[in-house]
Amino acid sequence: MKILVTGGAGYIGSHTVVELQNAGYDVVVIDNLSNASEKSLERVAKITGKEVPFYKVDIRDREGLSKVLEKEKVDACIHFAGLKAVGESVSKPWEYYDNNIAGTLILVDELRKHNAKNIIFSSSATVYGDPAFVPITEECPKGQCTNPYGWTKSMLEQILSDMQKADPEWNVILLRYFNPIGAHKSGTIGENPNGIPNNLMPYITQVAVGKRKELTIFGNDYDTHDGTGVRDYIHVVDLADGHVKALEMIKKKAGLKIYNLGTGVGYSVLDIVKNFEAATGVKVPYVIGPRRPGDIATCYASAEKAKNELNWVAKYGIKEMCADSWNWQKNNPNGYED
Ligand code: NAD
Ligand code: UDP
Repeated sequence: MKILVTGGAGYIGSHTVVELQNAGYDVVVIDNLSNASEKSLERVAKITGKEVPFYKVDIRDREGLSKVLEKEKVDACIHFAGLKAVGESVSKPWEYYDNNIAGTLILVDELRKHNAKNIIFSSSATVYGDPAFVPITEECPKGQCTNPYGWTKSMLEQILSDMQKADPEWNVILLRYFNPIGAHKSGTIGENPNGIPNNLMPYITQVAVGKRKELTIFGNDYDTHDGTGVRDYIHVVDLADGHVKALEMIKKKAGLKIYNLGTGVGYSVLDIVKNFEAATGVKVPYVIGPRRPGDIATCYASAEKAKNELNWVAKYGIKEMCADSWNWQKNNPNGYED
């Protein structure tokens, strides 16, 4: 079975290509390299011992996509390509709606023209907004997103669901990721944010490696066990494996399915700092700052549905997530730049 991986040179995409190739799938990657380096795929090839066919194509480029699909004759698509910086999406909403929504509309149109009506879509726990309850099950109502990035995920879920209902030949799996961190055990691929990291773990690793002075913890007055925000962190290799399991479901004619990919366990910001220090032996100086606008107190998954239906459970705990994030950062202080 041949899988088109859009955004396959990025953080989650590159880890997923490793797991797909290890599971015996043929993989074709397209990426416009707006937030990635082609080197990630060279490193993937070193890990798996298999070349990764790559096309530098933007998902909004209908002609470019069509050529790839004509040539490669893929069976299914795992769709990671998209812009993902929450803050940037507030200042550049048009760019986010164009890239993520217009891009996905062109992608799915080309997929159906080329008879590959199978898609696994990278959604996010952000679609639950401030969740009605925790642990969050897939039945939890979707909420108000606090930024255009979140709305692109919520709207694309709706678009893909409507398309599947109108044309049951489509198999659509929406995967709602919680907070991916960690890196491949080899320490050769990992998260490589541009500029100042928005997310907690890359910020912590950059403090630990000496690139930034201290972590600012965004608020310690939330209604949580220590006042700092609680999230469900998941090892990126577990997340990648969730996509391999989702493909099994596609083969069984999934129809429309929605799964949370999280561990079911919530850790606070201070828990993460302590676990990072314990796992790596490196101190993370921090200060307490004000709350970040749009943040919620607590967000963690019920991972039961993915366990029961996909036979997927997260294998890695917080110690490995911290140790592997650090292993990547310390071996590659400048990401993919030599
Ligand atoms: P990433 O930025 O590392 O990967 C996205 C990739 O898509 C990049 O390689 C980028 O160059 C590429 N891309 C962007 N726009 C494109 C376009 N128009 N055409 C072709 N390629 C394009 O991000 P990631 O963390 O690997 O995230 C992958 C997906 O998962 C994204 O859709 C993201 O929104 C979603 N997601 C990520 C998280 C997270 O915390 N990392 C959480 C929930 C959902
Ligand atoms: N966070 C923080 N300092 C940072 C980055 C994040 O205190 O520099 C907190 C943030 O307020 C949240 C948690 O860490 O409680 C996870 O934030 P992240 O941006 O990684 O993920 P998300 O908010 O999307 O869940």
